[in-house]
Amino acid sequence: KQLSSGEIRQMFLDFFKSKGHAIEPSASLVPVDDPTLLWINSGVATLKKYFDGSVVPENPRITNAQKSIRTNDIENVGKTARHLTFFEMLGNFSVGDYFKEQAIPWAWEFLTSPQWLALDPAKLYVTVYPKDTEAKRIWHDVVGLSDDHIFEVEDNFWDIGEGPSGPDSEIFYDRGQSFNNVADDDPENYPGGENERYLEIWNIVFSEFNHLPDGRYVEQPHKNIDTGMGLERLVAVIQDAKTNFETDLFMPIIQATAKLSDHREYGKNAADDVSFKIIADHARTVTFAIGDGALPSNEGRGYVLRRLIRRAVLNGKKLGIEQDFLYQLVPVVGDIMKSYYPEILDNQAFIQKVIRSEEARFRETLDAGVNLLNQIIDGLKAENKTQIAGEEAFKLFDTFGFPVEMTAEYAEDEGMSVDMDGFKAQMEAQRQRARSARSDDQSMGSQNELLMDIKTESKFVGYTELSDKHAKLM
Ligand code: ATP
Ligand code: MG
Ligand code: MG
Ligand code: MG
Repeated sequence: KQLSSGEIRQMFLDFFKSKGHAIEPSASLVPVDDPTLLWINSGVATLKKYFDGSVVPENPRITNAQKSIRTNDIENVGKTARHLTFFEMLGNFSVGDYFKEQAIPWAWEFLTSPQWLALDPAKLYVTVYPKDTEAKRIWHDVVGLSDDHIFEVEDNFWDIGEGPSGPDSEIFYDRGQSFNNVADDDPENYPGGENERYLEIWNIVFSEFNHLPDGRYVEQPHKNIDTGMGLERLVAVIQDAKTNFETDLFMPIIQATAKLSDHREYGKNAADDVSFKIIADHARTVTFAIGDGALPSNEGRGYVLRRLIRRAVLNGKKLGIEQDFLYQLVPVVGDIMKSYYPEILDNQAFIQKVIRSEEARFRETLDAGVNLLNQIIDGLKAENKTQIAGEEAFKLFDTFGFPVEMTAEYAEDEGMSVDMDGFKAQMEAQRQRARSARSDDQSMGSQNELLMDIKTESKFVGYTELSDKHAKLM
């Protein structure tokens, strides 16, 4: 019998528990006391307090499954097999306790031991930082990996400027020749390259230096381990799925979407499949983010949610869905995740209300926006042009609520682009106009406005205020 995602998550936590780790529950996606982050984007992000010494953990060995959001991967969703905007990062951490000689063999044991995941060692490859001869030695001498499964990669150094830093070692699973999207002799055809054959599953960071303000790297008195493995990628490997999506974490969402669509089925048509994947991914992201207290708005986190909801709604339209549907996927997400995240079903009514209100609001301008966009594209085609002007993209944004990235993506599917500099110039002009006209705190204003929308009946007022801080978000 195939392992379920829930079993795999639990096995990871149990494995590290058996190695003396304390299991920490996932923290909220909304960072607490960390103005440097828009979203929690990794397991270590919520444990910084232990690594910088401001809090001493009861047990220096910690393991968790952490909800994470990465907005830099939005455009990869549906296009690569491996990227999601919301995913769970499985991690084990050593706060000044064990180091490389434990972390590496443990990762190997969990992946390959018949008692644990029993993956075929012949399919696993690792990368190390070229100067990290110690990691290479452990992979080779202790684990017993042959040289042709160990690659030296210059990028394998984790550095965020000042603070803890160090080399890392990543583990890749060879999905086989049939998965490859690059030629055999392509320079990217190796574990660590941009290809779909060698899937990066786990990153083990050896945080051993302190990067000083003057640029020097000095050894830390206490060396730390910080690892991260994407649950969805691991599940895809174990359930032998082509991408993250053909797994028990996503298929029920895709199936529910298909039911709501105009007789579309998953796996019949490549363009439809991209839409199914985008919707399934974004449904999870907005469900969890709203469950953790974020709300759609015009800036910051709220703008990300708005952008995700609108992109999902547009993709729903591509599948022939003309009614509000995204909110109907919330219970499906909640049901899949209930064993580890019961909070979704607990908050289901509220999450659905927020999504439905946002969806309905966008739907009021969606058809008109799509019509305008199609007109613009037809016009350009007639003139043999390929670039949408900044003013047009701005109009779509300002009047019809089309995030510019969404317009650009739509244009791209037609072999066209958007004049982004022209768009930014329009935004800047709008900003200047707005600056003189407004002084209140827009963020609080828009959040309150949204809550009022939910309590009363939403009334569409246009998107003229949808502008300000957006440009610096992504
Ligand atoms: P990639 O090179 O595939 O974009 P990454 O190197 O950016 O991944 P890390 O920052 O090393 O990823 O994060 C640790 C692990 O988290 C990855 O090895 C992967 O399993 C998982 N992961 C990272 N980004 C994503 C994502 N967008 N969707 C799903 N899983 C992810
Ligand atoms: Mg990445
Ligand atoms: Mg990578
Ligand atoms: Mg990585």
